[in-house]
Amino acid sequence: METKSREKLNNYDSDTRILSEVDHLYRRRKYDGSYDSRDLSEIHENLVTAVKEAAVPFAVSTTHQEYRDGSFYWLDQSPVDVAMSGYKFHEHQSASKRDDVEVEEAIDVGINLKPGKFKVFISPRMTDSDAPYDVAKKEHLADDDQIRIHSLDLDESGAINGKYMQSMLIRDIPHSAWRDLLNDPNNIFNKSLNIEDDNSALSIMKTHAELEIDEEDLPGGVLDIARATLPYMDEESRQKVQAQLDLFDCDQEEIHKQAENIAARWLDFEIELTQSLSDGIASKTVTNFIGSLSGSWSDEMNSLIKNNTTFDGSLNMNRQLALELEKAKRNTLWVSAAVKAGNQEVIDKIGQKSADRILSNEDNINNLMSSKNTSADQINNISNQTNNLIASHNISIGSGCGGSVRGSFSPSEKLELFRNKRENWQWSQGICIISACDNKGQIVLVGPCSICVNCQSKFDLEGN
Ligand SMILES: [Zn+2]
Repeated sequence: METKSREKLNNYDSDTRILSEVDHLYRRRKYDGSYDSRDLSEIHENLVTAVKEAAVPFAVSTTHQEYRDGSFYWLDQSPVDVAMSGYKFHEHQSASKRDDVEVEEAIDVGINLKPGKFKVFISPRMTDSDAPYDVAKKEHLADDDQIRIHSLDLDESGAINGKYMQSMLIRDIPHSAWRDLLNDPNNIFNKSLNIEDDNSALSIMKTHAELEIDEEDLPGGVLDIARATLPYMDEESRQKVQAQLDLFDCDQEEIHKQAENIAARWLDFEIELTQSLSDGIASKTVTNFIGSLSGSWSDEMNSLIKNNTTFDGSLNMNRQLALELEKAKRNTLWVSAAVKAGNQEVIDKIGQKSADRILSNEDNINNLMSSKNTSADQINNISNQTNNLIASHNISIGSGCGGSVRGSFSPSEKLELFRNKRENWQWSQGICIISACDNKGQIVLVGPCSICVNCQSKFDLEGN
């Protein structure tokens, strides 16, 4: 019994994490359903970082927090509020201890960040001394080391506009390399740090208040901190870490531009989901997204859709459905972002042929996005075209604090059979959920996720 209630809680936690941007939008929404443009651009910036962390492991992220009323802000949240939100997403005590350090660090940066200096925060992945591997994995703290640096953004008169935070994720740096770097009196910080427990990542994190460095001594930003570990590891580890650092030498500006495009499409979807949750009924964009994946959804997802279809063909929206749609949207967008950025690990998983198709689709979208008269519908239609293709690979993608995400799609072998024999689909009498359906509200033949034959043929055309 006890295990069961705990499982339930975990689901709720991951729900909170995955719908966190939707929750921010809901909180910031005005009475008429519109948003402050500054809020949207700050959420967009957050999503850009999330795209990079999930899909482009060799990307550096930079975010800006505005200074007002004596603190730095992202939306209505101070860095301390943001750090405190970590407690919501972590369950194990060993992870909460890291959240404690995150909160301390946020306070320290708020007070002690000086002009011309970087403050550095190193959060290595958990070691055995911090927590068993399966606990670390569950808390999304088992694989990546995160490095962050903060610096002040000053105007010409020296007044504070805000602060910049640059961050990166990297793997394979041995824990001993971090420890030996920080112990070395001749390290880039020009001092030996006192580390409580030599084997603990938590102890490395706790050195943050002392990690300060002149801006001019760190021309490569966070990457210079990662590079500084290279002399403290054996040849085998060095090759692994160097190979990642070489990837970081790519065109970071181009990577940023692509991540901005993907994040813009993601933000549009978050707004649609927020609107749908607020109305209690799925919007046109949301039902089109469901339609674009008809034939790919898992049995559970098909029943969830059917159970929420009303007598007049509206689709009731609730948190459970929103959560599954959000996971599917992340999965399809992140795979597209990864392919576009040349993330070889993801390309190998889905094969070059699929990658080429996604790539040409993404190029079409980029062209459309750079022209003025493009509607969100046009972008969505093209974006939806590769959804079934991506779903058919059913891969898990993601990293960093967002964790990895898999869509609620059918297992691929089953899907193959399903798609090849569309006559085997279970067509039954029902009402189509597509908002713009010609048969709106009438009883017609519908497929597994409540899309009628007519609408389905339109999606099939788009997907070919
Ligand atoms: Zn229809």
